Amino acid sequence: MKILVVNAGSSSLKYQLIDMEDEKCLCSGGVDCIGQQTSTIEHKVSGKEEHTEKHHFENHTEALKIVFGLLTDANFGVVKSIDEISAVGHRVLHSGEDFDRSILITPENLAILKKNIPLGPLHMPANIACVESCQSLLPNVPMVAVFDTAFHMTMPKHAYMYAIPYEDYEEFKVRRYGFHGTSHKYVTGEAIKMMGTSNCKIINCHLGNGSSISAVKDGKCQDTSMGLTPLEGLMMGTRSGDIDPACLEFLMDKKGMDIHQMLNYLNKKSGFLGISGVSSDARAVTKAAEEGNERAQLVLEMTTYRIRKYIGAYAAALQGVDCIVFTGGIGENSFDTRRRVLEKLEWLGVKIDWDKNNNCPRRKNVEISTPDSKVKVFVIPTNEELVIARETKDLI
Ligand code: AMP
Repeated sequence: MKILVVNAGSSSLKYQLIDMEDEKCLCSGGVDCIGQQTSTIEHKVSGKEEHTEKHHFENHTEALKIVFGLLTDANFGVVKSIDEISAVGHRVLHSGEDFDRSILITPENLAILKKNIPLGPLHMPANIACVESCQSLLPNVPMVAVFDTAFHMTMPKHAYMYAIPYEDYEEFKVRRYGFHGTSHKYVTGEAIKMMGTSNCKIINCHLGNGSSISAVKDGKCQDTSMGLTPLEGLMMGTRSGDIDPACLEFLMDKKGMDIHQMLNYLNKKSGFLGISGVSSDARAVTKAAEEGNERAQLVLEMTTYRIRKYIGAYAAALQGVDCIVFTGGIGENSFDTRRRVLEKLEWLGVKIDWDKNNNCPRRKNVEISTPDSKVKVFVIPTNEELVIARETKDLI
């Protein structure tokens, strides 16, 4: 059985075709700058050189037509006909309170996704456009929606409520939802295997361009750092994370911004980029810090301080912690970020084998704590596409 995984951003599209017999990725690719002058499509067949094409795509539907052409292309294809695709798994940003798991996309469920567009006005229209384009290109193939929020739907009410008038929660469903759910779910499953029991307390640190932390007990999410949108929580590549909401009015007044400009400022111009003035990319910021750039050094101090604060808060929320997981581009690759976080967590019972931390092999699950560490620490490469493909297979 071959499953196509489609992951659409507001102006981008990533895809993978996975053979579920051995869960092997046959090909993967991405399209950027959809709706702009020139989009680049990068298509990679496992074991072969990457193939790149440039196009102008007005929308996601046009991009998907070219992707389907590449999947069956004589030189770059991996299937003879698109009829070999058994199902499509779509990453969908927001479930609202309507779903706590992945769903088969029926006309009724599609209507619910459309109702929830206001909860994710940038991503949801792109997600829905991809569902509808795939339905028209593959009319007899089942489609599944796998939500970024679903893993977090086990949070207790006292964790997901905001302290605003209750009627507004009831009417508008304004509350914490959390994101990166497929990643938190995947690494939770791997951590449980490494712990040898699901009966444990886990703190997952997904650190990438977007970052979030989750507190998990017995395999179920109890709390997470992102909120109604992915803006809340940790400091990220271009997002501010937690900030006093009163700063908004103050800054809007001082800088003459309206609320849309303000949210753009917090989502796109803040975080690593805003503080360092160098880049939103952790590698570039780390390099600048090593070269003596004080604002880049401040980024590293601020970001790792905030991660530690969340770990401390979640250890208290869970009333203990058995293991801490690092994943995402930064969590998996930046031994320096892990060191800055972990060297100040000895009080919690964390003891690290620094040699293992500094020489962690890529793309492997690794335990970097010492055998006598009270709290285990794992580096686990995430695999969100595989979670989407597995859930799609289970549902069809
Ligand atoms: P993601 O959003 O999960 O793809 O993660 C992207 C982030 O991971 C970017 O900020 C990258 O700079 C960062 N990253 C990737 N590789 C490394 C590395 N070797 N060291 C530090 N940061 C890295």
